[in-house]
Amino acid sequence: MRILKFLCLSIAFISLNVMAQEQNQEEARKPGHTNQNKFKQLYDEFATPNMFRTGSGAPGPAYYQQQADYKIDLEINDETAVLSGYETITYTNNSPDELTYLWIQLDQNVRSKDSPSNDINSSNVTPAQSASRFASSYMSESFDGGFNIESVTSTDGNALTHMINQTMMRVELPTAMKTGDTFSFNIKWWYQINNHVTDGGRSGYELFPDGNRNYVIAQFYPRMAVYNDVEGWQNSQFWGRDEFALPFGNFEVNITVPADHLLDGTGKLMNREDLFSSDMMKRYEKAKKSYDEPVVISTQDEAEAREKGRSKKKNTWTLYAENVRDFGFATSRKYIWDMMAVKLGERDVMAVSLYSKEGNPLWEQWSTKAVASTLKSYSRMTFDYPYHKAISVHAKRQGMEYPMICWNYGRPDENGKYDDRTKYGMMSVIIHEVGHNFFPMIVNSDERQWTWMDEGLNTFMQYVAEQDFGEWYPKALSSGDAAYPSRRGPAKNITGYMGGNQDYIAPIMTKGLNTYQFGNNAYGKPATSLNILRETVMGRELFDYAFKEYTHRWMFKHPTPEDFFRTMEDASAFDLDWYWRGWFYSTDWVDIGLKEVKKYYVSSEPNQYAKNYAQSRNLNLDELKLVYLVEEGSDEFDERLRKGTSADNSPSLKEYMMDNFTAEERKTIKQPKYFYDITFEKPGGLVMPIIVEFTYADGTTKTETYPAQIWRLNDNEVSKAIASEKEIVSIKLDPKLETADIDTSNNSWPKEVKDSDFDKFKNKVKG
Ligand SMILES: [Zn+2]
Repeated sequence: MRILKFLCLSIAFISLNVMAQEQNQEEARKPGHTNQNKFKQLYDEFATPNMFRTGSGAPGPAYYQQQADYKIDLEINDETAVLSGYETITYTNNSPDELTYLWIQLDQNVRSKDSPSNDINSSNVTPAQSASRFASSYMSESFDGGFNIESVTSTDGNALTHMINQTMMRVELPTAMKTGDTFSFNIKWWYQINNHVTDGGRSGYELFPDGNRNYVIAQFYPRMAVYNDVEGWQNSQFWGRDEFALPFGNFEVNITVPADHLLDGTGKLMNREDLFSSDMMKRYEKAKKSYDEPVVISTQDEAEAREKGRSKKKNTWTLYAENVRDFGFATSRKYIWDMMAVKLGERDVMAVSLYSKEGNPLWEQWSTKAVASTLKSYSRMTFDYPYHKAISVHAKRQGMEYPMICWNYGRPDENGKYDDRTKYGMMSVIIHEVGHNFFPMIVNSDERQWTWMDEGLNTFMQYVAEQDFGEWYPKALSSGDAAYPSRRGPAKNITGYMGGNQDYIAPIMTKGLNTYQFGNNAYGKPATSLNILRETVMGRELFDYAFKEYTHRWMFKHPTPEDFFRTMEDASAFDLDWYWRGWFYSTDWVDIGLKEVKKYYVSSEPNQYAKNYAQSRNLNLDELKLVYLVEEGSDEFDERLRKGTSADNSPSLKEYMMDNFTAEERKTIKQPKYFYDITFEKPGGLVMPIIVEFTYADGTTKTETYPAQIWRLNDNEVSKAIASEKEIVSIKLDPKLETADIDTSNNSWPKEVKDSDFDKFKNKVKG
């Protein structure tokens, strides 16, 4: 008997739902369409998995990568600022393909006189400008800093046929290279080093008033291009903005500079004893055991003494690096040099800084600690930093990364004073550039094609590392800052860009050269999207595991975007195709709002809905024993309904409870009194979880999250029926501003009345 009654009631509800569905189907006679569903898998966009790269996002059984080893002899002539080099490249063909030529990158040719790199930017006549600007724009010869290639020879001294196309040089192989073959050849070259402060660039020197220079030297030698299963030979020229794609290899580099210069770079310093004074050696040994504070190896006094001289003698510094994709170095008379040790697992790594007195007092306080903190944060999220050191070099207006070494800005004024902007800017750029050791120096993506894979992943990690730094070094924070004030990462910081003019926004999956707002597109949006994915969509446990898996799969290898996307899903059982599609392949933005909230009470009186139903089916309403819900404020609503419980208001419900539950069960059963029909709208194109905060009459709150899949069958609007024992007095969407919702004016019920500017002005005057 009890069961029979329950069944009757269920059938009645099912019938009611069927009626509604039939109505909808009749209305839906619209033209057909293809699958535009935002949850559709990315098979059309992704490359097909193969033996090189699997569907799981891991390297496949046939994965290979080429090897390029270098022996380079370099000399800087400090009087002429000329860098000359003689290098031997040993190239190993690990591909299954036969190679008849090699491509070498000549990045410095971006500064050659006839470089077309400036011609790709449109320009206009400025009707009024300063004389110096006018002279430099229209009257002066442009700087010629391109490569002078003196010879390209085989190891037996014979010239190799080669041709230069802009920033790339093709060298003909005397005999084709088969799988496993190795070929060595030599290049002799020189170029005029640029002043990076006046002429720009990621490499060059800063000239100080006393004639001293600080050289930060990179992409300075003819470098092997990448050959792989995705592109064949890298064929995208260096136009100056998109960065680099490089194979791994070992470097043996001898660098000759004036004897009063200090120098550090990628790799282990092989002849330290010959170059360091006994004092420096002693301090260096001390630094290796100093885990809390940096030890100064070369003091400011010593640096200032060196600055005054111009030694005619030379020193050669020998560096050796294994398994790096590039090589950079910095040298000057002006360097103060400090170091401290960082424990990573069982290993000690050195955190190192090189800076001139102009960087103090900021640099002696925070540079090396920022390096150490970054290594710890990134190692926790990825893998233990595998190299033996990481150096931060102070260079005006620079922020640029190479294996084990990077250049960073952030300089106090002449009196050593600095504001928060300078301080945080300096800390952030150090964290960022040291972080690049992981992406893309070790997780070696193709920066030329996919800027976001290095800048985006790295800026996401920068945010994590900045928050750690603020926690681990609270003294680094300015008074009043409870946490590190990260610029990129928090969701609310990207809404201006994402909601901006669509003519000047490109999907993240765009080659960096072709994007409009480089910082937002390649750094800010991907970093923020990963942060939202971690904090809001997947949760830290799933995200961190999958992210770590990606870094382990691809450390010292060459991943593509699909390898990242696929691994994140493969390791988390979280289908994220919808997330990549929306955030990475489109310029859609997030805007989810509350469209309507209706409130219902249970009533004993049959409502019109039930009456229509009974009449259309010729049924007797009394026999159906339905529970009726009426909307507050409607004609059917009676104020008295507010007083009673749902069971008080509905004889059918009361009877059902008496028949189906024991007295004991009835005491503990949920008895919701308030019923809400909430309609969410989605003016934004992105599908996202709906985060709803309910505030009850007693002041308590509760947050519910509906998964993004709630939008799978209706991309515009969805509803939720909420039954509550407590009265809801207000509803807020995305209360912590964690989804990058660009318009929060539709996020509240009742609608929040924001002060008009006039009201604010009035209050200000009053206050
Ligand atoms: Zn970067």
